[in-house]
Amino acid sequence: MISVRQALDDILQEAKPMAAEVVALSEAHTRVLAEPIRSEREIPPFRNSAMDGYAVQAADVAAASVQAPAVLRVVEVIAAGSVPKHEVTRGIVAKIMTGAPMPEGADAVVRVEDTESRPDGAAIFKRVVAGANVRLAGEDVRIGDQVLDRGRLLRPADIGVLASIGAARVRVYQRPRVTILATGDELVDVEQTPGPGQIVNSNAYMLAAAVAETGAVPHVFGIVRDSADAMRQAFELALRSDVVISTGGVSMGDFDFVRQYLAELGVKERFWKVAQKPGKPLSFGVRDATLAFGLPGNPVSCLVCFLLYVRPALRQRMGLLELHLPVVRARLTEKVRASVGLTDFIRCTLEGDAGNYQVRVTGSQSSGVLRSMSLGKALLIAPPDVGELAAGAEVRVLKLVEDAASMPPF
Ligand code: AMP
Ligand code: MG
Repeated sequence: MISVRQALDDILQEAKPMAAEVVALSEAHTRVLAEPIRSEREIPPFRNSAMDGYAVQAADVAAASVQAPAVLRVVEVIAAGSVPKHEVTRGIVAKIMTGAPMPEGADAVVRVEDTESRPDGAAIFKRVVAGANVRLAGEDVRIGDQVLDRGRLLRPADIGVLASIGAARVRVYQRPRVTILATGDELVDVEQTPGPGQIVNSNAYMLAAAVAETGAVPHVFGIVRDSADAMRQAFELALRSDVVISTGGVSMGDFDFVRQYLAELGVKERFWKVAQKPGKPLSFGVRDATLAFGLPGNPVSCLVCFLLYVRPALRQRMGLLELHLPVVRARLTEKVRASVGLTDFIRCTLEGDAGNYQVRVTGSQSSGVLRSMSLGKALLIAPPDVGELAAGAEVRVLKLVEDAASMPPF
């Protein structure tokens, strides 16, 4: 039996980043950059106005006020998307729209709110300093700037940056294809009504959702019976994908042969059994670049093992650099019993604000009780050397869901 840390280290050592592929920018959201992006263009591409108003020489309006406006001749109107035809010189201004290129000679823009159009020209009521309301070419991005790093998970703002520099296609890591096998003679599909001794194959649905949420591509193989032929056939096919996740059949039961079939198919086992609760019988092996996780059948153990081990492995294969669930510190509201010699992951809720979190354990911790996982949004980590955590103790907690607020922020 190995420690949780050793298990994670062993897995991450084997989880190689996927090959890269080129995708259209419209397909790139939530993908991971396989190369750093440098800009070949300046953003903004030209000096332009930040306001609707008048492009002026600041010196011309240095004394302008409401009482004594500067009245200046308007040489042209420059719309966004057009190109100025005239130079702005002393005594002359150009009306200009937000985003339109600044005319030669002008060094500032007076907001239209501080002006008035008159038959003899534009009356300017307010002085501006040189540079006011002017966006310089390249002030956002200069040529050669590295705008995004390799390993970047592309969010909407990143997609905007890529579009603005003309990156119509980007090199991203391929998404790992993940085959999910649920083993067990007791399993039936959700469409069926379980007969005597049967239960619904909930793990496959749960894992498919977890894989998709991680950003990889799930393929649910379906239910695999606890027979040698069914197992061999299913695992042989599954091992053609990038990651195999099986559930069940890795414990000490009479029909727990998953490890044996994996070994027969050339999977080198890296470990079996981790000093943790839930999820002790976790197995992990590799065949070439394919990772094979044998997760316990118990739904809670299954999901906890996915979150702790499979998710970071998938993220590393996806090319991400930040692999793990975030840890926060929190105070226990009640006494909690933990197992000595094992790292416990205890389903809990987090209440209060960051910096002042309170932890409450969610109901039965039996590894068959999935509802406690669904109710809980966090996992309290009880290290192997503690048998009991006192009420009020500061503990480390893994956050499983992103924060969202029920109250509007303003
Ligand atoms: P096993 O690891 O195969 O011994 O299974 C442990 C427990 O998890 C048993 O109670 C199984 O019925 C349950 N179980 C196994 N596979 C699944 C599954 N795919 N969906 C839901 N429960 C399962
Ligand atoms: Mg089983």
